[in-house]
Amino acid sequence: MKYSKIIKDFLEKKKYSQINLKAALFDMDGVLYDSMKNHAVAWCNSTKAFGVNFNKEDAYLHEGRTRISTINWAYQRQYDRDATEEEIENIYELKESEYNKFPDASPMIGTSKVLEKIKENDLTAIVVTGSSQESLLDRLENDFPNTFQGESMVTAFDVKHGKPHPEPYLMALKKGEFKPQEAIVIENAPLGVESAVAAGIFTIAVNTGPLDDQILLDAGANLLFHSMESLANEWEKLYNALNETKI
Ligand code: CA
Repeated sequence: MKYSKIIKDFLEKKKYSQINLKAALFDMDGVLYDSMKNHAVAWCNSTKAFGVNFNKEDAYLHEGRTRISTINWAYQRQYDRDATEEEIENIYELKESEYNKFPDASPMIGTSKVLEKIKENDLTAIVVTGSSQESLLDRLENDFPNTFQGESMVTAFDVKHGKPHPEPYLMALKKGEFKPQEAIVIENAPLGVESAVAAGIFTIAVNTGPLDDQILLDAGANLLFHSMESLANEWEKLYNALNETKI
């Protein structure tokens, strides 16, 4: 019941008659992989080394931004100016090496279950990430076999604007030839939620980090779960409501 009411409100607001679900768009860090805590530490260590203030909460609040945008944000707050190219390069290089000190992040608990259900429902699963890791597809194939295709994936290489701009999610729709009302998004970060909402897609927040739920709801999330596991447990009910609710 509660899902159909939420979906109806979404349809009315967007002036869609129904969701004709064909695709599920997944953010990567904090959704597919339990990697955000490592990214947060790497950001804190690398900014600190150059005297730039940036704490863990900042890392979670700005998750999803491009590297340039994140570093410029910190410089604007502290110095009222953008960072120079050299400053960006220095911090980001150190951030990468700090991040790489950690072992590969594990898949988020419950994510494989969600992906299995998505496949059972014949939905296309697409990754939409601001990451620019070269070997991403191999890693995804290894951890989630036969789930994601390289040609539909959206990474930092595919877009001009990062989240919270809608371009990453609009690009995923374009690549897969889907309409906004034929997809859902699963996101953990406020800026990722903003991006998906701005692309006109029904957005499910999974709050896997330390931020208040309200921050994700204020960003526009239509629904919120506290783990991928709880999304997996609710999937059948939600899937039915997504398909059956019409206005
Ligand atoms: Ca994320």
